[in-house]
Amino acid sequence: MLRQFELVEQVTSYDPDADEALLNRAYVYAMKAHGTQKRASGDPYFSHPLAVAAILIDLKLDDATIAAALLHDTIEDTEATKQEIDELFGSEIAGLVDGLTKLKQLDLVTKEAAQAENLRKFLLAISDDIRVLLVKLADRLHNMRTLGHMRQDKRERIAQETMDIYAPLAGRIGMQAMRDELDDISFKVLNEEAHATISARLTALRQESGDLLREIEVALTQKLEEHHIPASVNGREKRPYSIWRKMERKQISLGQLSDIYGFRVVVDNIDDCYTALGVVHQTWRVVPGRFKDYISNPKTNNYQSLHTTVVGPHRKRIELQIRTNEMHDIAEHGVAAHSLYRDLGSAENTPGEDDTGAEHAGTKDGNAAPTADANAYRWLSHLVDMLSEGDGPKEFLEHTKLELFHDQVFCFTPNGDLIALPSGATPIDFAYAVHTNVGDTCVGCLINGRHAPLITELKNGDEVEIVRSDAQVPPAAWEKFVITGKARAAIRRATRLALRQQYAGLGREILNRALKVQDAVVEDEELQIAIERLGEKHLDDVLAKIGRGEVACSDVLKALGIGQEHSPAKSNFGMGQRLKSLGQYISLPRGRTKRQDTGAIPVRGLKGDLPFTISLATGAVPGERIVGIMTPEEGVTIYPIFSDQLRQYDDEPERWIDLTWDVHEGSDETFPARIQVTVLNQPGALAQVAQTIADGEANINNLELNTQSADVYDFKIMVEVRDLQHLTKIMRELGRAPLVTGVSRMTGVE
Ligand code: MN
Repeated sequence: MLRQFELVEQVTSYDPDADEALLNRAYVYAMKAHGTQKRASGDPYFSHPLAVAAILIDLKLDDATIAAALLHDTIEDTEATKQEIDELFGSEIAGLVDGLTKLKQLDLVTKEAAQAENLRKFLLAISDDIRVLLVKLADRLHNMRTLGHMRQDKRERIAQETMDIYAPLAGRIGMQAMRDELDDISFKVLNEEAHATISARLTALRQESGDLLREIEVALTQKLEEHHIPASVNGREKRPYSIWRKMERKQISLGQLSDIYGFRVVVDNIDDCYTALGVVHQTWRVVPGRFKDYISNPKTNNYQSLHTTVVGPHRKRIELQIRTNEMHDIAEHGVAAHSLYRDLGSAENTPGEDDTGAEHAGTKDGNAAPTADANAYRWLSHLVDMLSEGDGPKEFLEHTKLELFHDQVFCFTPNGDLIALPSGATPIDFAYAVHTNVGDTCVGCLINGRHAPLITELKNGDEVEIVRSDAQVPPAAWEKFVITGKARAAIRRATRLALRQQYAGLGREILNRALKVQDAVVEDEELQIAIERLGEKHLDDVLAKIGRGEVACSDVLKALGIGQEHSPAKSNFGMGQRLKSLGQYISLPRGRTKRQDTGAIPVRGLKGDLPFTISLATGAVPGERIVGIMTPEEGVTIYPIFSDQLRQYDDEPERWIDLTWDVHEGSDETFPARIQVTVLNQPGALAQVAQTIADGEANINNLELNTQSADVYDFKIMVEVRDLQHLTKIMRELGRAPLVTGVSRMTGVE
């Protein structure tokens, strides 16, 4: 804990005129007022206002702000009254503490109407004196840092409020460092899994690339020195939350994420900023479209810097921000980096600073860093103006939120409940934001009363009604159309669950076939007892494991006391058998192969509820003898028995499962087969091939071209056909085409 004399020393070190007696009085008063109160962590309560004061001391704020920080919880939580504070510390500090007390009573995460009203009060309180907001933000930051001792539900609520209200507010007044930390802690609470994953990836990258940060820092510094630009170069790793945002925004995975390092070049003056930029651009290749000049065009919160991205040493993409010291202070601490708060508090204008007041708010000086935070304050005074115009709560909320949160959209349920979403969100995000169950059963939507596609990007003020069906299972493809973590996680969970059911279905099939071979009939009750012998609890789990190849069917039979010499799943395959079967089965008529009761599982097409896919190297069509290979990731992949790819599974008989086509004669489903067509290198060859396939009523679904020699080249074509007969006919027709010199079925090895 910061001791009394240390606190005073620290303040006077940056502000020699600070009122030491005031600070001492505030310290002692707050300590006594909180007395033996404890925080959730068990620490004395006074450690909290003290830590809040310390955060503000780091920002070099004035004595009144520090005193208010020490006193900020006294009126609400102790016997102290506003009147007493007023008498002891004067009206300025009493005003600040009173403002903070009012803020504390506002719940900002409530129903729309109340939320609007509370936000209105909140903004009034902070616009009264920006120092109220600064103390409030420091208060929130310390509470977030010490959130670990709270109950989980309370933690989530506070984190949500922080992410929705406080972090954007900190950003809006330019306190980027504060915003980043608030966002990051909230993110960790609200999405612990994602936070952990990203942190782990960062650690791995750090180990991989060694001291890359340092290396690039040195390279940059040397280059700048060569051009006589004094600069301090600072490399840092991006925070998990900013990486997460980037992944969400750009729809990229963690693996694709390359530029996780940012470098800051701080130089003496604006001229050096541009010279340094020139040096960087001469030295390394520029990534196009990433250069931004926020020096000539400052952001509304007065942020200034040059941004660029280059391909640096080791071909790593590095992001650079080039700025002066003053710009750096503003970038990190925004409003707090200025003397502005003093002017607001005392309503006096400091001589020499003529653009601090709202009346001069339009002043923008392109040659120098702004000396005051006119822009950052303007939005606030604009909001306050709006308050006096007496808009309805809904309209007010909409305006306010729009002002505050550029990167969010606010939509409404038909009941008028407000749903806040990141901009770019779709009705699917909306549905999941309302309730996971609503998202899972969502099949359509009405936006402002009209039917709209579920992938529509929502706009501010949209009223969204979700159409639901209990039969719905969210398709995995939805993951591409959502941007909120909640929706994405829920879709993944539902997809996983559906897949698990598919595997359980497959496992049930495999087991039933094996039982049939043994002429055994087993009730689920017996099965349940048997699997418990295997140390398993739930039948569905075991079935899914059989389907996935993680539990051998033979083990379950053994547990049932049904003897068998070998597992039927692997009995029919050996290299010799496979070679023989090529000739034996290739001429079988389409569809219903003669059903031998060997335990083969029927494949009734690919759209059924079993997890089948067909090997892309060969394809497979009804009429061909097929086998399945089970892998936990891919489910069952179907191979024609002649596929060369099967060799790699020779040593893993437990992966093999016997399949048989069971496709109805009239079915219009088509199946892929990969063929190689060699043609003469003459004009019109491809057209001839394509025409022949089209005439045969088949589709080309993929085509690769390989040049063999000057005279001939090969096409590798995936054709979609009904069955083996259909395929054979097409291959025959292709063989007859004038420019075709050869046609063959591909066997899986290129
Ligand atoms: Mn507090």
